[in-house]
Amino acid sequence: MNFVSTRGNVNQIGFIDTVLMGLANDGGLLVPEKIPQIPAEKLEAMSKLSYQELAYEIFSYYVEDEIPANELKELIEKSYSTFRHPEVTPVQKVKENLYVLELFHGPTFAFKDIALQFLGNLYSYVSKKTGETIHILGATSGDTGASAIEGVRGKEGIRICILHPHGKVSKVQELQMTTVDDKSVLNLAIEGTFDDGQSIIKEIFADVDLKNKYHLRAINSINFVRILAQTVYYFYAYFQVKKEKNVESVNFSVPTGNFGDIFAGYLAKKMGLPVGKLIVATNENNILEGFIQDGVYKPGEFQSTYSPSMDIQVASNFERYLYYLVGENPNAVSELMENFKTEGKIVVNEELLHQVKEDFAAHGVEGQECLDTISKYYSETDYLLDPHTACGVAAYERCNEPNEVCVTLSTAHPAKFNESIELCNIEQTYPEEINQLFDKPQHLEVIDANKEDVVRNLVKLFSYTTK
Ligand SMILES: *Cc1c(COP(=O)(O)O)cnc(C)c1O
Repeated sequence: MNFVSTRGNVNQIGFIDTVLMGLANDGGLLVPEKIPQIPAEKLEAMSKLSYQELAYEIFSYYVEDEIPANELKELIEKSYSTFRHPEVTPVQKVKENLYVLELFHGPTFAFKDIALQFLGNLYSYVSKKTGETIHILGATSGDTGASAIEGVRGKEGIRICILHPHGKVSKVQELQMTTVDDKSVLNLAIEGTFDDGQSIIKEIFADVDLKNKYHLRAINSINFVRILAQTVYYFYAYFQVKKEKNVESVNFSVPTGNFGDIFAGYLAKKMGLPVGKLIVATNENNILEGFIQDGVYKPGEFQSTYSPSMDIQVASNFERYLYYLVGENPNAVSELMENFKTEGKIVVNEELLHQVKEDFAAHGVEGQECLDTISKYYSETDYLLDPHTACGVAAYERCNEPNEVCVTLSTAHPAKFNESIELCNIEQTYPEEINQLFDKPQHLEVIDANKEDVVRNLVKLFSYTTK
């Protein structure tokens, strides 16, 4: 399969090169040249597969023969053997017509593990095959960092540097990242927001000389492999719900920050999965909701919320959606992104807005509404939602019609966000893996949010020598 850039200025490349390139060299994002179509009979056959078997079938469309079948199967087995649940991503019925897709059974208790366990193994595989050095650079709003570090720690030939917004991640998120005592791991706590971190990363990745000189690789959802790995659980969840409910299609409500997870759902739908509405759930950082209601994409003032992993104003993956919205026209995307750079906003016309509304529904959840949703579901159904999942459930309540069936993605375990759970006067017990973190020393550097300081620290990380 060939991949192209949303901005049209990268020669077609294959799957592995797409993973290695991360951000496209022209500043765009890489997308498949042609989205594979899965016919109904094939879907029927897929519905009987285990999570790992399903992942293999779906990945195969994109990887083709770049990784031999037995090796791809091994990579998948290894990646999901670290999950605590035999189904990897089990679906729980919470009430009539509402299911929760639990994506937090991996090592760091958030959905990021599903893609990053695989990406860590894939980088290690590529490094072994080609002798290529892998230096990972990423920005996190809290969960990607821990998950990426967990995905690559201890793997030969890989070093990793993660930027997180100092003091703006939850205690457990901070501990998960910074208690790893490993010379190949560097945590930079920047004085700024996630958007500042993401913009520094994009600046560095857009500097192609720097990127090549230091073998820089991406783990953020600018990397297409993240999106691909996340399409699998949309299929899996749909098949599980179908076993219980005889419905044509299923809606998905998705707690959204960088538009990565919901874009995976959009891709699954384009591949032929009968997805109904895709509901974009945001918090007060609701630029995406604004776009879906009015066709204007304009970042506002950053706000810290009860769901910190969604505290994002500029959603990287939004460009992938724009590409399809404008009919896979890279010139139109380049123009819109140029406008965004100069005028600080993207505006689409009535016709396109109509299409946007066909593709998505949206609800921006305000703080108290998030807490009320946690309390309500805890008392009514005994199910403890983390604050991100609570945004998803609140958006389901707003956007799902009574006769429709909805799966809400549960993106994290509530133990990661006790700061918010406490505010609902709910006492939870931590899983043992999280309890242990509180006694460990932390390793991090606090730095200013600028490219130069990040590069200086990167060079130090990459130049240490191992025995
Ligand atoms: C990353 C994250 C999100 C947002 O996912 P995107 O792919 O950035 O939209 C939502 N919830 C949690 C818990 C996360 O870690």
